[in-house]
Amino acid sequence: TTRTRFAPSPTGFIHLGNIRSALYPWAFARSTGGAFILRIEDTDLERSSQAAVDVIIEGMAWLGLDADEGPFYQMQRMDRYKEVLAQMRDAGLVYPCYMSVAELDALRERQMAAKEKPRYDGAWRPEPGKVLPPVPEGVQPVLRFRNPLTGSVAWDDKVKGRIEIRNEELDDLVIARPDGTPTYNFCVVVDDIDMQITHVIRGDDHVNNTPRQINIFRALGKEPPVYAHLPTVLNEQGEKMSKRNGAKPVTQYRDEGYLPDAMVNYLARLGWSHGDDEIFSREQFLQWFDLDHLGRSAAQFDEAKLRWVNAQHMKLMPDAQLAVLVEQQLARRGIDADTRLAAICALFKDRCDTTVMLADWAARIYRPVDVDAAERDKHLGETVKPAVAMLAKMLEDCPWTREDIALAIKEVLRATGLKMPQLAMPVRVLALGTAQTPSLDAVLALFDRKEILGRLKAA
Ligand code: GLU
Repeated sequence: TTRTRFAPSPTGFIHLGNIRSALYPWAFARSTGGAFILRIEDTDLERSSQAAVDVIIEGMAWLGLDADEGPFYQMQRMDRYKEVLAQMRDAGLVYPCYMSVAELDALRERQMAAKEKPRYDGAWRPEPGKVLPPVPEGVQPVLRFRNPLTGSVAWDDKVKGRIEIRNEELDDLVIARPDGTPTYNFCVVVDDIDMQITHVIRGDDHVNNTPRQINIFRALGKEPPVYAHLPTVLNEQGEKMSKRNGAKPVTQYRDEGYLPDAMVNYLARLGWSHGDDEIFSREQFLQWFDLDHLGRSAAQFDEAKLRWVNAQHMKLMPDAQLAVLVEQQLARRGIDADTRLAAICALFKDRCDTTVMLADWAARIYRPVDVDAAERDKHLGETVKPAVAMLAKMLEDCPWTREDIALAIKEVLRATGLKMPQLAMPVRVLALGTAQTPSLDAVLALFDRKEILGRLKAA
């Protein structure tokens, strides 16, 4: 069975570009009946934070990217890494290297001067018959991996196709620091082995690590997993998306009123396609997802497109369900919703592309509305005032249904000779603070009778 993982480093708040690297392995595991594992790569103590871990966990929960196993934390697996290091040492797969930073720098400079690619020269790599330099006193060595010297390492990347790297190009990777702590590439391999990962789906910023990791797999007697390296996500300016250039934490999209299913839909399309299908449900996505249709070129984030996708999902979502999300938005503003909220959603959702916008409309109903005097006076001329007063009078005791309210409006128009917009515009402004609203009878019917009479009479 397939086993995939998402292995974020909690070194910054996870953004849309990052979370896409969770969506695909999650979808692949779900659509193949496999397992999805969450692994937090928190070994960079200086840059990792609990707050960043929280955003990862919260963001994934919000989007419904549930892990079957984990979260595992690399910092809690140190003993295991050290155990494998010891085994590798015993097996002669790694060796201590005492080259100092100054020596390494000098080596690099010589190589650069000779127009060679800087790489470790294997000075401390034991070979039969080779005499190693004298071990300097009081220096803790790093451990280096004995990378094969000849041949090449190749894999069939699910996105990039066949990639082959000559071992000559790879030097002997440091896999433990002088204090004995294991380094990044080594931990990833131990984890991917222990967690029995079958498919590694990750950003292509790791493509250079892959041949090194594969060599470590093989040295440990394991076959590497299948790799799929996803192209970068660019921001709207065409730069690699990153926190530094303004990418928002994923959870901010929740706060801005995006639906989880819309985000999943949008992110799915940001690097994968199913024909021309633009709008699809989570279930359809899981039915359709495969590694063969991952895109090969960088995808560019487009907020307007995201809003459009969100609007489509709002239209598709049952009003009662949408109301639950809008209720959360209202709660953040300290506004209690009531049973009218689903009807409010039904009436306004066509003109909204986020639940925040829907909450704005609901707030105009639940809370006293600011009426701009100029806007009001523009619509509420002296000739119209008596008509509004007459409508208010009729609304005092007509049955409180949309149909009866429509009849009352008609009656006022008949009695005053006004045209619908002449009456409707000022009443809309008084009711909701704006003349751009759905049809007047529907709007009025959403109000509590007392509340709307108060707003009309205030004029
Ligand atoms: N921790 C790495 C990152 O956040 C991912 C490592 C991997 O997927 O192999 O970029």
